[in-house]
Amino acid sequence: MITKPKGTYDIYGNTAKYYNYINGVFASVCEYYNYEYIRTPIFEDSELFHRSVGETSDIVSKETYDFKDRGDRNLTLRPEGTAGVVRSFIENKMYGDVNQPKKFYYSGTMYRYERPQAGRFRELSQIGVEVLGSDSPLIDAEVISLAYRLLEEMGIENVTVKINTLGDKESRENYRASLVNYLEPHIDELCPDCQKRLTTNPLRILDCKVDKDSEVLKNAPSIMDYLNNESKTRFEKVLEYLEYLDVDYEIDANIVRGLDYYNHTVFELVADIESLGSAKTLCAGGRYNNLVNFLGGPDTPGIGFASGTDRLIHVLQELNQDKEITTGVDVYVMAVSEEEKLTALKLVQDLRWLEVKTEMDTLDKGLKAQFKQADRLNARILIILNNEDLKKGLITVKDNLTKEETKVDENEILDYIISNL
Ligand code: ATP
Ligand code: MG
Repeated sequence: MITKPKGTYDIYGNTAKYYNYINGVFASVCEYYNYEYIRTPIFEDSELFHRSVGETSDIVSKETYDFKDRGDRNLTLRPEGTAGVVRSFIENKMYGDVNQPKKFYYSGTMYRYERPQAGRFRELSQIGVEVLGSDSPLIDAEVISLAYRLLEEMGIENVTVKINTLGDKESRENYRASLVNYLEPHIDELCPDCQKRLTTNPLRILDCKVDKDSEVLKNAPSIMDYLNNESKTRFEKVLEYLEYLDVDYEIDANIVRGLDYYNHTVFELVADIESLGSAKTLCAGGRYNNLVNFLGGPDTPGIGFASGTDRLIHVLQELNQDKEITTGVDVYVMAVSEEEKLTALKLVQDLRWLEVKTEMDTLDKGLKAQFKQADRLNARILIILNNEDLKKGLITVKDNLTKEETKVDENEILDYIISNL
């Protein structure tokens, strides 16, 4: 038997219902916030990720799926969504549109060579948004509140917004220097990855899952003491807006995000769910004001977040949020003889075109088995066709809740069903 590759999984059955539900809620929340859908390729020139995500990030240093195609091009399966959206923004000259900022949402699979475990896959799905062209703290608040609203809309409530700022270039560089200074004498107490990070990406040490409880990190200097006035005022504005919007947040100086391109606001929405282990972050994002320029476009500020759909499915299943998701059929049409089947075929189509979820038997089952099937499908109304009724122009309808039966004129059947659902 051929089996699926390690770290992938099939989305079907109950999981598929959650998957579609999440994408549906996400799309509708984004539309209300006036974001437009964007789809970019699943593979891109390898250089795009190496440049934007950064050589020293976990993603590029050990998680990408790189390959050469038959034309000897270096390609990479996208590990995240931001780089592709920014590439598209530049390549399609969207910075020239009169409508600014550009606000996008996307949904799709990403690929990371990680050690598979709860909430961590090699083919993962993400939903995310990116806003390009506004540096206003209003947009930071909008993006964070969109993420918050999304989880709330799905009934995920025990969520904390953890927020931090990395400041502008000057603040970040001053902080970086002081952090390296502080960490150098303690370097032997940190994990091997962090020892390397000290020269390549020292801020990332604060976010290390191995060293997260070490005393060294707890006593590390805080970015808050290194922010210049401009960065500080900007951060305070974001917090003020969040309070005004009733978004509960918690400042967490250890949130630095793994990627190189972030500055100013960085945030994560974290769920209080034990079974997710080290994978409790549901949404993660931040501002990246230098990325567009860095990838060859005109100076354009940006901010976004991504949320792991697989983790959201896990949380919804855990919270048993299936009330709205597992819906039965509205109508089951029962027919046995060929003549009854013909009438059923047309009736089923008419109902479906009226957006009534309708099913009929296609396996030549007897009447008794059809009743059982209708119950398994949780049918709300049964239409029981039989030749004698049909000759008189009548149709038997049974309400599957009250068990009441009525005979309805065949010309009035559609109206009758609609008004009884
Ligand atoms: P983590 O700290 O958990 O490794 P990350 O910093 O790598 O996350 P991002 O790159 O910001 O995460 O991705 C955004 C979101 O995508 C995460 O918050 C998480 O919900 C989801 N995600 C990340 N990696 C995986 C994975 N391997 N499998 C499933 N979902 C993932
Ligand atoms: Mg990761």
